[in-house]
Amino acid sequence: MRRFLIAGNWKMNSTSASAKELAQGLVDGVSLKDTDVEVLISPPFPYLSQVKSIVDGSPVQLGAQNAYFEAQGAFTGETSADMLTDIGCSHVILGHSERRHVLGESDEIINKKVHACLNEGLTVILCVGELLKDRESNQTESVLETQMKGGLKGVEAGAMGKIVIAYEPVWAIGTGVTASPEQAEAAHQFLRNWLSENYNAEVSEQMQILYGGSVKGSNANELLSQTNVDGALVGGASLKADQFLPIIEAAVGLSS
Ligand code: PEP
Repeated sequence: MRRFLIAGNWKMNSTSASAKELAQGLVDGVSLKDTDVEVLISPPFPYLSQVKSIVDGSPVQLGAQNAYFEAQGAFTGETSADMLTDIGCSHVILGHSERRHVLGESDEIINKKVHACLNEGLTVILCVGELLKDRESNQTESVLETQMKGGLKGVEAGAMGKIVIAYEPVWAIGTGVTASPEQAEAAHQFLRNWLSENYNAEVSEQMQILYGGSVKGSNANELLSQTNVDGALVGGASLKADQFLPIIEAAVGLSS
């Protein structure tokens, strides 16, 4: 059985004080004992270490929002996968739509980052998702296929246990508009079939496929109830413990 993963993406938000307060609020409020639920938070780089010291010993795991593909050297402003494992990150988010569409990352760059992070033992949350114009012109599946093929190029089946896919329709991110449970399930089913055809049935069955796009406490239950939705990547609602905890609780309720 696949475990749920509820992952928070804080993006470029918080201060040193608010990051500590939020992490502490989650550690105090979360209870995952005997559940099939994993919880992850991804603060901005400057706060990773201090958040790590708060979540240590709790079930809350630590992820980064990006990594560079080179191991070290003259790459001003970048952070390597090795640095992330060194400070205790278990996961990294790659290919987020803001990195694709605001910062211009191509599938080729994302693929190099995927390999660099897998080589360091990080679990990669690979984000894929279509723009509104793609959906309106019936291109959703071809966009997802291109991003999956490009992002996972050269990744062998044996490494796929360290990959999580996040389906994030770009039109639903930060907009308050959520994909309907049926739209989410159809995209997740497509992704799972793609994994079966391009890898094998075992990889496809075991893959955690998260939904992201305006997930909140009020819609988490019906989204997470879909057969092929194995968790959520949450932006806005992960910035307050009293908004993130109900999403975790929805997963806990469905897993028991
Ligand atoms: C995200 O940033 O990955 C995201 C899904 O954001 P939001 O939940 O705010 O739509």
